[in-house]
Amino acid sequence: MKMTEHSTQHRVHNFNAGPAALPLPVLERVKEELLDYRSTGMSILEMSHRGKEVGAMAQAAEQALRRLLAIGPEYKVLFLAGGAQGQFAAIPMNLMGPHGRADYIETGSWSAKAIAEAGRYGHVHVAASSRAERFCSLPPREHWSLHEDAAYVHLTLNETIEGVEFLTIPETGQVPLVADVSSTILSRPLAVDRFGLLYAGAQKNMGPAGLAIVIVHEELLGRAAATTPGIWNYALQAADGSMLNTPPVFAWYIAGLVFQWLEEQGGLEAMARRNEQKKDLLYAVLDEADFYRNPVHPTCRSWMNIPFLLADSALEKPFLQQAEAAGLMGLKGHRAVGGMRASLYNAVSLESVEVLVGFLKDFRARYG
Ligand SMILES: *Cc1c(COP(=O)(O)O)cnc(C)c1O
Repeated sequence: MKMTEHSTQHRVHNFNAGPAALPLPVLERVKEELLDYRSTGMSILEMSHRGKEVGAMAQAAEQALRRLLAIGPEYKVLFLAGGAQGQFAAIPMNLMGPHGRADYIETGSWSAKAIAEAGRYGHVHVAASSRAERFCSLPPREHWSLHEDAAYVHLTLNETIEGVEFLTIPETGQVPLVADVSSTILSRPLAVDRFGLLYAGAQKNMGPAGLAIVIVHEELLGRAAATTPGIWNYALQAADGSMLNTPPVFAWYIAGLVFQWLEEQGGLEAMARRNEQKKDLLYAVLDEADFYRNPVHPTCRSWMNIPFLLADSALEKPFLQQAEAAGLMGLKGHRAVGGMRASLYNAVSLESVEVLVGFLKDFRARYG
């Protein structure tokens, strides 16, 4: 059944950073199926995760994600509870191994949190940092001090708060690359085979909060510390189809609908074209004059999260008030960096970005 949009509901332009906009046809499908899931006479919230309906849903979601990202059979795909930050702990527990050493690249608030959490489980070496540049650029690869005996190198492919993104994947030789892709996954094609492990919280570009998706090369399974909780042991969860305990079925189901919607949109090549157009439109208006400013170096500007400042910070309040009155929601920046931020995830339409750009120009004309 193809996903269609037929609602006349009032919907705002949603630029939230996460939880964030979901495609309207997905929400409508959820509503249609809620009381009677595929002629079972009950909701998917009310049935066993061991039954055939949930099994079929889980399989279909995984297969769609595998097609979208061209994930090879040597990778396991796990659907786990605990969000992305659960993985900040699960990764060192599963991968650090007996020597307990890993290299981390610090590029913003989320990688800093990942470093702090991993430090509870082993020796974390910060191999490079752009903290001195206020996370407005990325540390050049030639300045990274990687250890050959590190169990993995961790980086945050897109820093959701600072709006800094690795637009090319750095080389790490024999050491597996582990990446937090929470706010960039599915925004465009990604070379999964360059990574040992990818993980993402679902609530940015895939579905509801609380669910994390882990894509892990099977060579990395079986190294978990003995104290690793069973539910976060990758090998055990992989052997059990992510159903060692009751999985977050509803979140998994909605993520599956988002994957179906993405395939119907033409897959990740099509999303890349649309997302490139969206971010180009927004950066162009921010760069056009000194009234607005995006502080990130042009070589690493995020496609999905675009922070910006007003030259006169006294205008922030009227800016946000008038934006909300115009139906433009979620533009307040993260408290760590201030200013504004627009998140342009897949479910944010080109039309919403055009309305935002129109508002930015109009506000500048009136106050500039
Ligand atoms: C939102 C986010 C997280 C945290 O996700 P939770 O699911 O709330 O734990 C981690 N990393 C990045 C890059 C994020 O954007």
